[in-house]
Order: sequence, then structure tokens, then C-alpha cells
Amino acid sequence: TQKLHIVGGGMAGSEAAWQAAQLGVPVVIHEMRPKVGTFAHRTGNMAEMVCSNSFRSDDHEQNAVGLLHWEMKQAGGLVMRQAYAHRLPAGGALAVDRDPFAESVTQALKDHPLIEISGEEITELPADGHWIIATGPLTSDALGKAIAAETGAESLAFFDAIAPIVHADSINMDVAWLQSRYDKGETEEEQKAYVNCPMTKDQYEAFIDALLASDTAEFHEGETAGYFDGCLPIEVMAERGRETLRHGPMKPIGLTNAHKPEEKAYAVVQLRRDNALGTLLNIVGFQTKMKYGAQVDVFRKIPGLENARFARLGGIHRNTFLNSPTLLDNQMRLRSRPNIRFAGQVTGVEGYVESTAMGLAAGRMAAAEFLGHSLPVIPQDTAHGALIHHITGGAEAKTFQPMNVNFGLFRPVDGLKGGRRGRKDRYKAYTDRAKDDWSEWLAAQEVPA
Ligand code: FAD
Repeated sequence: TQKLHIVGGGMAGSEAAWQAAQLGVPVVIHEMRPKVGTFAHRTGNMAEMVCSNSFRSDDHEQNAVGLLHWEMKQAGGLVMRQAYAHRLPAGGALAVDRDPFAESVTQALKDHPLIEISGEEITELPADGHWIIATGPLTSDALGKAIAAETGAESLAFFDAIAPIVHADSINMDVAWLQSRYDKGETEEEQKAYVNCPMTKDQYEAFIDALLASDTAEFHEGETAGYFDGCLPIEVMAERGRETLRHGPMKPIGLTNAHKPEEKAYAVVQLRRDNALGTLLNIVGFQTKMKYGAQVDVFRKIPGLENARFARLGGIHRNTFLNSPTLLDNQMRLRSRPNIRFAGQVTGVEGYVESTAMGLAAGRMAAAEFLGHSLPVIPQDTAHGALIHHITGGAEAKTFQPMNVNFGLFRPVDGLKGGRRGRKDRYKAYTDRAKDDWSEWLAAQEVPA
């Protein structure tokens, strides 16, 4: 008999399997561990947390991660259920006792009458049948090569080199201004596509000092192979010479400070749109291995970013992920081979929670297809929908980097005040709207008798 095949029993694969099986679909999970390991996993359990033991904020009224928790819980998510069952005290965060958590997820999957777990590595892209590939940031080499052969090498990354992403409304536009270098572009929008933050010589020197003194994270063993010919962390550029950045990503040429046209900036930090809504901007060329706390301190020294709020901080990691905006359709199917769906971190989301959510979505989509049911489109104003919309269409394909869920991905709610004071109301309005839409979406699904 036909089955739904899921490659990878991590966060996404486990949730996808559970969702599909609960809807009546027979599932095989192909998980290579413990036969074949990765540098980060320690066990053969499904849903192993490889680093922190936290699912982050559980606040479903004021936090987009907490909202994802809520949505998954409503959808009968296995990962969330076991996370709550193994919760450890951690204030507003959902921290869990990792080993019992992973063991209980594994047991629930093993006990499900429609789920079978098979212990081999998949090394080829399957030609037919229903498949979900959820092999995560540490997708095995052989499968990574097979995916790259299908998508083209330029569409599959083996590292992320993430520049910090800033909420546009937290930038001080009395200091920064909008302009593309040499005013390049056909339309006014293109000529003003960048946000520019100017530095004087003293500010630049102080910034370089801060970069050189910053605390950086170490690479894991085996993590750097093949990376450094790509893009360098800014603190490494600064180490190569104090002027390197001023001749690289921070060069001031072709830019005129709209607030002080007579004053030539010594260096300029540029930010570029990161989503179609224009609510998120990335700092161009600022991929970094600095620790998170150090990044906030250092980047808030940039004039105009004194009060910046970061949607995500920068990082460089081993991370296999697709250029989803070009490769996947809005059902998370590979356009060139629609019998294959992708789910989890390999789709270009980042983190346990986001990956689990993309497993939940892919599991439901695959189950509907398997059963010949129609599945209403996941509403864009839910946390799941906002993420899917971002990775399959909303994000800029050229600069696509993995994304955490955050309110910058949500469409604005009409009639609400902007700014710092309105933020609490705004977030509550986002989460209220999302909950209504998610509940409606769940209720509208055909459920087998
Ligand atoms: P995974 O959970 O990694 O699951 C993928 C599974 O596929 C694995 O079990 C793997 O063994 C299996 N697999 C791979 N290739 C094959 C194959 N060819 N055949 C069969 N099976 C295969 N996220 C956080 O939220 N907080 C953190 O602190 C954090 N720290 C991290 C630290 C490191 C070093 C790494 C690498 C990642 C970290 N992440 C963290 C990210 C987090 O691990 C992922 O977001 C999440 O686990 C992704 O879920 P996933 O299901 O997509 O992949």
C-alpha cells in the first residue's frame, strides 16, 4: 500500500508524521540516527534538541513565537504537547527537560498504529510517491548533493551567514536617510531603496574598536569547511585592517546625507529591505560570529540605530537550506518535483519552534493531498501563514537567509497607532486576528470519519 514517506525524524519530521497519521494517513519516517550521526545530535531519539532546551517565549498575546505555540497546540501538535508535559520552570519561556521530552515524542510515534520508523539514510531524491524531506540544518552530505543536483548548487546553501535584521520602525530617520548608492534605479522607490546611517571618523574608529573587542562564538569542529571563501564575518574583516570595512560594506561613496548634505560621511552603514512589506531591514554585509549580547551593544553604536529592535541577530552556522522563494510553491512542494515537499529548517526557517510549525503545516498539506481532500490555504495573518508566506514568496530571493517568526512578518492591522506606545496594542491585535483565522482554518478542514 501507498504511504507518506518522511525523511528525518527531527522537530519537523516528527510533527509532520504525527499530523498526517492523526488524519488517517499511513506514514514511514526515515531517520538515519543513530546509524549515521551528525556533529550536534547525541542520541537516536526523534525530536532531539541539539543545543538550548528552550522553545522560547510562551506568551501568545505579545510574542510571535508564543503565538506559534498556541496555534500548534490548537492543531493537536505532538511536539508542543510533550513540551508542556516536560516543562521546566523558566519564567515566561517554555524550557523543557530535553531527554524525557524527546523520548516521549519517540514513544508516541512508535506507538501510533499508522507510523513506522525505519532507520536508514536516504541518499537520493525519490522519483515517485508522496514524500516530505525534513532533514534539517545538518542534512547528510549525500542527500545534500542530491538536492543540489536537482535545484542547482546556487539554490542550496550549506551555511547561513546572517546579517542582523532590524524592525524598520525602530530606526531614527532624523539621523538616517533613504538613498541607493549613486541614486541607482529606474523608479523613485529603487533610488531610495536603502536606509543609510552615517559615521564620522571618530564614530568609525570607535566602532572598529568595539568590533575588535567583541566577544565571538567559536565554530564547531568540522563546521567551517568550505565556508570562508564565502562571506567573512565583519569582525574578521575588521581584524584584517582598520580600513577594510570602510572600503567594503561601509564605503561612503555615492551617498549624500539628506540631513547634512554639506558633510561628507566618513563611513556609511546601509540597510536593505528584507521583506516585501518593508517592515524588516537587514544590515548589508554585517554577517557576524559575535555573541548576541555583544551584537546589540555594538550595533546600537551605529548612528540611527541607537534604539534599534532586532527581529533577529546575525550568525554564521552550518545550515543546509533551500532558496525557498524560488524553489517551493505555496504548498511547500518542490516546483520541479511536486511529489516532494520540504519541511522544517531546510525550508529557510530557523529554530525548533519554527521548524516544528513548518512540519505541522507540511504534514497537513501532504495528508490532504494523499487523501484527495482539499485543504484551505493557511491564512497569511496566522503565525504559520506569515512564515510560509515569507519563505515561499514574501522574502527577497536574492538575499534569502533563514528567518525566525516575528511580528515584522505580519501584515499591519488597520487603524492602530504606530510607535513604541502603540506596540502592545498592535501585538495583541496581531495575535487576536491570528487566533481567529487559525481556528477558522482548523474548523474548515475535512476530517476523516
Ligand atoms: P532536525 O531537528 O535537525 O532534524 C532533522 C533530522 O533529519 C535529524 O534527526 C537527522 O538525523 C535526519 N537526517 C538528516 N539527513 C538525513 C538523511 N539523508 N536521511 C535520513 N535522515 C536524515 N534551534 C533553537 O531553537 N535553539 C537553539 O539553541 C538551537 N541551537 C542549534 C545549534 C546547532 C549546532 C544547530 C545545528 C542547530 C541549532 N538550532 C537551534 C536549530 C534547530 O536545531 C533546528 O531549528 C531544528 O532542530 C530543526 O528541525 P528540523 O526538523 O528541520 O531538523
